[in-house]
Amino acid sequence: MAAGAVLTMSVIGAASMLAGPAHGQTASGRGPLSWFGDITGSIQQQQPSQAPRQVQPAPRRMAQNGTPKEWSGEDGASGHPLMTADAIRRSAANFDRCVAGMWPEAARRGVSQASFERFTQDLSPDLRIMDLMDSQPEFTKSVWDYLDILVTDARIARGREVLAKNAATFAAVEKAYGVDRYIVAAIWGIESNYGTQGGDRSVLNSTATLACIGRRQGYFKDEFLAALEILHHGDLTPQQMRGSWAGAFGATQFMPTAFKKFAVDFDHDGKRNTVDDVPDIIASTAAKFKKDGWAPGQTWGYEVEVPQGFNYLHADRAKNYTIAQWEHLGVRRAGGKPFPRGTDKAFLLAPAGADGPGFLMLGNFRSIMRYNPSEAYALAIGHFADRLRGGTPFVQAWPRQERVLSRDERLELQQLLAQRGFYRGEPDGNLGGETRKALRSFQASIGAPADGFASSGVLERLRGR
Ligand code: CA
Repeated sequence: MAAGAVLTMSVIGAASMLAGPAHGQTASGRGPLSWFGDITGSIQQQQPSQAPRQVQPAPRRMAQNGTPKEWSGEDGASGHPLMTADAIRRSAANFDRCVAGMWPEAARRGVSQASFERFTQDLSPDLRIMDLMDSQPEFTKSVWDYLDILVTDARIARGREVLAKNAATFAAVEKAYGVDRYIVAAIWGIESNYGTQGGDRSVLNSTATLACIGRRQGYFKDEFLAALEILHHGDLTPQQMRGSWAGAFGATQFMPTAFKKFAVDFDHDGKRNTVDDVPDIIASTAAKFKKDGWAPGQTWGYEVEVPQGFNYLHADRAKNYTIAQWEHLGVRRAGGKPFPRGTDKAFLLAPAGADGPGFLMLGNFRSIMRYNPSEAYALAIGHFADRLRGGTPFVQAWPRQERVLSRDERLELQQLLAQRGFYRGEPDGNLGGETRKALRSFQASIGAPADGFASSGVLERLRGR
């Protein structure tokens, strides 16, 4: 995939993460981007229930903050057959039977009948989640807006306090796992603002809803069963397991399956607790990074200056060159410092094209992306970690005069490129590799840096203004 396409998707992913759902898609390797595709079909037969639960499409009520509190009663925007209002109602009417139907699998996983009955007796479908799952924001955030929101002075100050207060634990975890304490502190700060934000929905209820209703039932059945296992095992109580609508919970925003894989009982109190046990929170985050290939003693990447006339075809996640090769191509570390090692391999990310800063991303950047497969997210984590360590803001400015294009503008961009003979695909509003290629050809034809970055500025040029 071309770098530009990756970038646009990343920013969309980042923006949707801010809205909530992406948190802790984590260890599953499925991130926000998977919400737009990779749709697994229902594994439940949608049969009429013998004892239908009464589910009325409630009138849209507003919570105090002005957001809808109840299901809209409308078809989902994905167009998936399981997301139509009728399909949602039918599945909701079958909810009790669907939950009961997961008992044999729960038993196979060692959940007792008493636990199953106790934890599932009060579950009810939370249909507002269907609106949240299918929300498709028209406007997405730019990478600099995203960084501004996530890496704030207040969060840096709070992070430094947390690091100082728990210095002994961070040191012990660093020694045990070889993972940089500032990266762990950055994840904790960005995922839950040090445990103060993380959602307040019952994880078991959300995952049961998603396991029985909507377009990702197979995926969420596994999450629901994992949540049941955690509760049965006694690591956490249902009151502690509260989180995002997608089921990510606690300080690290692990999904239940991620908790099963990565959570550790670092303080040996008999419970793995990533909600309010600080040693477990720090160690579980580090454990995940260790398994995801974090290289001890190395950083995630460097801000770099990209020379004028640079060939942006090199800015591609698939092009992993040594630092020495990048230097040969004229790339320099921003601020004039030398790179520590010429032999490290890195890819070049230019998240705002030629008018913004470039970054050389090392292997540890890919480890951060295993937490959430969005380049904007991983850049925010890496930068926040550097700031916690005492580092400075980026040296180069972002092109803040540019805005992210709306869907209508993306369509218009493709149509204008097609009219001028640069784009041969069908305009669809998705800025993939072909669009980037066409944009680069257009930019080259007018003597602009051919970075393939779809900005409001390049759209203006195409309009001929
Ligand atoms: Ca513990």
